[in-house]
Amino acid sequence: MKSSNLGYPRIGEDREWKRTLEAYWSGKIEETEFASQLEAIRLGNLRKQKEQGVDIIPVNDFTLYDQMLDTSVMFGLVPERYSSYEGGSVPLSVYYSMARGNKDEVASEMTKWFNTNYHYIVPELKRSQLTLTENKPLAAYREAKEKLGIETKPVLIGPYTFISLSKGFNKEDIPGIILSLLPLYTQILQELEQEGVQWVQLDEPSLVSSISKDDMETVTYLYEKLNEAAPHLNIMLQTYFDAVEHYEAVTQLKVQGIGLDFVHDKGRNVSNLETFGFPADKVLGAGVIDGKNIWLSDLSSKLQLIETIKNKVAEDKIWLQPSCSLLHVPVTVRNENALAKEVKEALAFADEKLEEITTLVKGSNLGLEAIVKKVDANKLAIQTLASSQARNHKAVQADVEKVKSKTSGRQLAFKERYQKQREFFKLPFLPSTTIGSFPQTFEVKQARSKFKRGEWTAAQYETFINDEIARWIDIQEEIGLDVLVHGEFERTDMVEYFGHKLGGFVFLEKGWVQSYGSRCVKPPVIYGDVHFIKPMTVRESVHAQSLTKKTVKGMLTGPVTILNWSFVRDDISRENVCYQLALALDKEVLALEAAGIKMIQVDEPALREGLPLKKSDREEYLNWAVNSFLISTSSVEDTTQIHTHMCYCDFNSFMDVISSLDADVISIETSRSHGELASAFEEKTYEKGIGLGVYDIHSPRVPAVKEMVDMIERGIKVLDKDQFWINPDCGLKTRGVPETVSSLKNMVEAAKIVREKL
Ligand code: GLN
Ligand code: ZN
Repeated sequence: MKSSNLGYPRIGEDREWKRTLEAYWSGKIEETEFASQLEAIRLGNLRKQKEQGVDIIPVNDFTLYDQMLDTSVMFGLVPERYSSYEGGSVPLSVYYSMARGNKDEVASEMTKWFNTNYHYIVPELKRSQLTLTENKPLAAYREAKEKLGIETKPVLIGPYTFISLSKGFNKEDIPGIILSLLPLYTQILQELEQEGVQWVQLDEPSLVSSISKDDMETVTYLYEKLNEAAPHLNIMLQTYFDAVEHYEAVTQLKVQGIGLDFVHDKGRNVSNLETFGFPADKVLGAGVIDGKNIWLSDLSSKLQLIETIKNKVAEDKIWLQPSCSLLHVPVTVRNENALAKEVKEALAFADEKLEEITTLVKGSNLGLEAIVKKVDANKLAIQTLASSQARNHKAVQADVEKVKSKTSGRQLAFKERYQKQREFFKLPFLPSTTIGSFPQTFEVKQARSKFKRGEWTAAQYETFINDEIARWIDIQEEIGLDVLVHGEFERTDMVEYFGHKLGGFVFLEKGWVQSYGSRCVKPPVIYGDVHFIKPMTVRESVHAQSLTKKTVKGMLTGPVTILNWSFVRDDISRENVCYQLALALDKEVLALEAAGIKMIQVDEPALREGLPLKKSDREEYLNWAVNSFLISTSSVEDTTQIHTHMCYCDFNSFMDVISSLDADVISIETSRSHGELASAFEEKTYEKGIGLGVYDIHSPRVPAVKEMVDMIERGIKVLDKDQFWINPDCGLKTRGVPETVSSLKNMVEAAKIVREKL
């Protein structure tokens, strides 16, 4: 049995990769310095894996930004708008223009990598442009061999996945387009073969989504051709994030190895393996260690899993590996010095996961005695955390069981309560409001860091926040908004803020993971039973409300979003963790209501991204996700108005789910897809309150009154004027003050113009 890795985090233990990229972008270092700093990081990562004893080490998992962008550039797919590109190898300036835009040319679109929080640059396909501009995997292979003397496994995105994630063609044309990539992949693989490369890893995670039989036939043909073209090169066809859709067809592909995820497959890969077996002449890349989460693996149960696999696959045909690239976890637990021992010892990031793999391989090859100490220590760490107070809040667990078995809901049906709410709030038609946050200016950030560094007392910081709230209440009154907000100045981040105030969370010091480009995030860790401790947002909302006669809308992050943007414990189901969050937020909602806040927004921008990859799993997720939202928001009086917010525009296919959240009002990002959205309402009716974002907050541009009048008029053609709200697309925290005030003034003016015509 061998140990293998699929990809190593590129960012470095202390985000040195990020700093290098940003130093280069800002002109602080030249291209040669840039290249040599990156080489040091890249080789350092390889050396570490070698020292850990990993048998099969990946190369070309490293990148200057994103691996999908690398693949596009390697195929010469540079969109025409980057006018400085004249063919041939792609200069860094063009590469980074595609990634980030420049002052004249917009960047390529960026989107989420399957169900992770990693974002890739979407390839823009144009068949005429396809040419091989470089062989990146080959260069990476040579570098490792020449500089470190190690034999490695080059990794590249497979053709099917590359195409299925691209844009610029019709889905029906997939087979033809894939075939046009064949010569390029052929050339890459033949060059690797000539170089003497043993194994290459082709990543095909798209084979786990709901792929059609026809597409599967194309994939079969394609790999047959690739195998013919480079018969002495071994291909490891790597899948991850779930079970493969067509197990038998995938395992019969003309390749020498198949990599399967045995962690996120809901048991489906294992059961397929047991039912259909595995071809004797192929290597099985067995993804037994969770590559997406940060917890220790239970080595004893992994050993059992390995036994099950060994019943079907010969030992010398098994590679043990993480379930996916370790890109999605931080680098090492070693640098976490502030954590309680019971938590720290139960964690495993990239380095520790590789150690788990080499330990399991050792156990398999040399017998259990060789690893008994490690298995015992592992058992102890897991048991210690399991029996900790943090994981044994009996009352919370009992409450979860209670709410799970029933469906929560408001007392009155929407129409009747909305009527009551209208009488209660006495708002005009087309009420105007915002999504919650106002600019986090330099002063706001400075105040927070003074408080954190201890230069300011809690009282000083609180006074600052109060003053900022007061200042913005005045500004909102002057602008003429109908429903005001406090501005979220006390929050760094909409999830972290709540994590700090709820029980059951811890925070990492260096637990960064790449989100997109040089941007790294440090998700909070849900390690125990989540519980409400004391009100989290009441003070600020009540302060804001005391300063105005207008309604101030309270502002919370919803349970599903907190769940999806955290690292979540894996000893209980995500469903149960979500219910715990929902119950805690229900208490916050009631505390706000009791304190006189009668309009409360519960944001769920991440509800959609938790959707399982397989269509057949979606209903189950949506059931508990929607029910969690209902638990958080349904205990209030009929007259209390619940708002929610989401920031994506695919409302069309998601309308029924949104409606089932039963929020009285939803605000939604739509300004960039207004036409499409309006047509969605022609086909289907939506009866609840809705604010279609009337301007794009991602740009500093101040939208003209007329533009927004048009936007609103288009909206009320398809929606009832009683249900229509006026708001920007999303929160304003990243915007400057002057443009925010001007834009909102124009927005309020636009609402007034349309209202007068009604
Ligand atoms: N209320 C949050 C804000 O205004 C919502 C942010 C979001 O949708 N991502 O910033
Ligand atoms: Zn938003």
